[in-house]
Amino acid sequence: MRYKIVSLSCGNDSMAMLYELYRRGEHFDEIVFYSNGMDFKAIYRLWEQVKAKFEPLGVVCTELKPKNDFLFDMFERWKEKRDTGEMVQGDGWCGGGCRWGTFEKISTINRYAKSKNATVFVGLAKDEQKRILDLEDFKVAPLNDWGYTQADCLKINRRNGIQWLEQTDNAEWVDLYDILDRVSCWCCANKNLWELYNIWKYFPDTYWQGLKDMQSRLDMPMKKFKNAKFGEYGNVFDLEKVFEGGYVPNHRKRSDNNAG
Ligand code: SF4
Repeated sequence: MRYKIVSLSCGNDSMAMLYELYRRGEHFDEIVFYSNGMDFKAIYRLWEQVKAKFEPLGVVCTELKPKNDFLFDMFERWKEKRDTGEMVQGDGWCGGGCRWGTFEKISTINRYAKSKNATVFVGLAKDEQKRILDLEDFKVAPLNDWGYTQADCLKINRRNGIQWLEQTDNAEWVDLYDILDRVSCWCCANKNLWELYNIWKYFPDTYWQGLKDMQSRLDMPMKKFKNAKFGEYGNVFDLEKVFEGGYVPNHRKRSDNNAG
């Protein structure tokens, strides 16, 4: 039988996939968790829970990391620009049209899977048809085969008691899926306005401060927010002024925030 790997980010969709595969008695040999070190603490806690459950069942649990430290690539590594040949330092914000961290993740997982001649289960739900159509032939998307959307995945996770608990800077606990649409890297430039507002609100001294530290090293604003009232306010420091001024964004879930 071909070796089978579950690719796990410990986010909503891949957690639902893992537990559904297990509930349905599907065979898998290994769970691979890739982390670039920029995940929320809740994600690392869930990974420990997954290992505690599946290792005693004989499933190999492996953590993969990128070649370089994420912050080194973001700020320090010199590279030649493809279009102009100019040497520039650091990849800058990751997200939007420049998901250099995602590229590194996919190539690391692919290299690993190919070294084992494995089939990889990936947690893409029915809502993500474009990404499913682009999958390499050694990858399968069981959530899509079962007809599960991302909303179905959240229900499955809730039923299984899976929580993404993170302690706020006020020492209270929140489930990240109550304040974020997707639990991707805390510094992901794909985060929407509502998610950024919640990071500012619940984690001002930790993750939000981290975003300010990053912005202070980059000229490029994290986001391209612009409107008649605030002007351009995608720079993290400008965003903070807008939030401090009392602006509370509506929650409009956007499907183009997919990242990872
Ligand atoms: S989640 Fe965002 S920041 Fe993290 S690797 Fe993916 S695109 Fe980059």
